[in-house]
Amino acid sequence: MALIVQKYGGTSVGSPDRIAAVAEKVAGMRAQGHNIVVVVSAMSGETDRLIKLAKSVSDVPPARELDVLLATGEQTTIALLAMALTRIGCPARSYTGHQVHILTDSAFGKARIQDIDARRVHGDLNQGRVVVVAGFQGVDEEGNITTLGRGGSDTTGVALAAALKADECQIYTDVDGVYTTDPRVVPKAHRLHRITFEEMLEMASLGSKVLQIRSVEFAGKYKVPLRVLSSFVEGPGTLITYEESDMEAPLISGIAFNRDEAKLTVRGVPDKPGIAAQILGEIGKANINVDIIVQNVGADGTTDFTFTVHRGEYQKAMGVLKQVAQALKAREVVGDDKIVKISVVGVGMRSHAGIASQMFKALADEGINIQMISTSEIKISVVVEEKYLELGVRALHSTFGLDRPDEAA
Ligand code: ADP
Ligand code: ASP
Ligand code: MG
Repeated sequence: MALIVQKYGGTSVGSPDRIAAVAEKVAGMRAQGHNIVVVVSAMSGETDRLIKLAKSVSDVPPARELDVLLATGEQTTIALLAMALTRIGCPARSYTGHQVHILTDSAFGKARIQDIDARRVHGDLNQGRVVVVAGFQGVDEEGNITTLGRGGSDTTGVALAAALKADECQIYTDVDGVYTTDPRVVPKAHRLHRITFEEMLEMASLGSKVLQIRSVEFAGKYKVPLRVLSSFVEGPGTLITYEESDMEAPLISGIAFNRDEAKLTVRGVPDKPGIAAQILGEIGKANINVDIIVQNVGADGTTDFTFTVHRGEYQKAMGVLKQVAQALKAREVVGDDKIVKISVVGVGMRSHAGIASQMFKALADEGINIQMISTSEIKISVVVEEKYLELGVRALHSTFGLDRPDEAA
């Protein structure tokens, strides 16, 4: 008898029929003798609807109140699923994040889970009940409702699995596993039978929204057995592994991309110590996260400095940078918010040279200009014009031999 945490995303609980189908699936697992904890998202579209509703009342809704509002999406689903389970004779109880003491910090809208009190959940499981927990939400020390950021129900699922020492955490979604790239962009993408935790972390960080980044971080920290599966079709899904298998790892496991990027350049800044710190210091003070940073080799005692930020923070970053530029007597500030980042990821890269040149040639062959480059041990990222996103991803997918049917289980 195993303890399994199952998380169902928005599409998987998107209608009364879907909720009934999830209830059948959960009841079936319980009938096999397993203890089941279910984490659910809001019904698909609901979180967006609530955000729009808030904006229709206030341009800048107070973060605390926005979280109170957004948490209702998941609260609706837990009640409906518990009802659907009870209707088919499967005893179940629903709980909000607060009720099972999902303690977070107070960063409304992007709170981090600090602790979970598993006693209540264990109590119900011991009574033979299925426990249904609201994803995406928690409570801070002062008792304020918090939310965990978009896609946060994944993190609730993995964090609960860690706290309960579950035998497996299953993330049920609308695709049947982790693919070599988003199958909606590249129809030839194929499902990976397994992916290493490190690769999954890179893929998530670089824009593959199939798992929230923090859920992967959590999984790695507590070595949670984690699997991504479809709630619509049966199948083995994709297993996240913690050791590189002794089988030869593929050179490149996947292609990730991120559309939410913008870049800013300050030209003609003095080429002397402390300038980068000064520029990025001001950006940091404004609470803007910086991603790729490039500084040109200086000439004539001046240099150019370019970095990327989240597209939603482009205007704010531009305002800050213009002020710094004035203080530094820089020549000019320019920017572009029509850029995207494409990355190739693979642990096999560690032991192979030549991946970068292969990547750059594939892009050049399609006439795609590379604006910025950033590398780490297991990934290479490039920034390109937004209009080349699909073309670039497809070209790389094919260049690295990923265009093929699903990997055998
Ligand atoms: P859920 O509502 O179940 O949390 P999400 O929309 O958050 O579902 O995540 C699933 C989606 O992630 C898929 O529909 C797919 O378009 C997208 N996706 C992006 N990259 C990948 C990838 N490498 N493998 C699988 N899905 C991906
Ligand atoms: N409902 C939240 C969102 O849409 C959390 C989640 O689905 O994981 O982002
Ligand atoms: Mg999601």
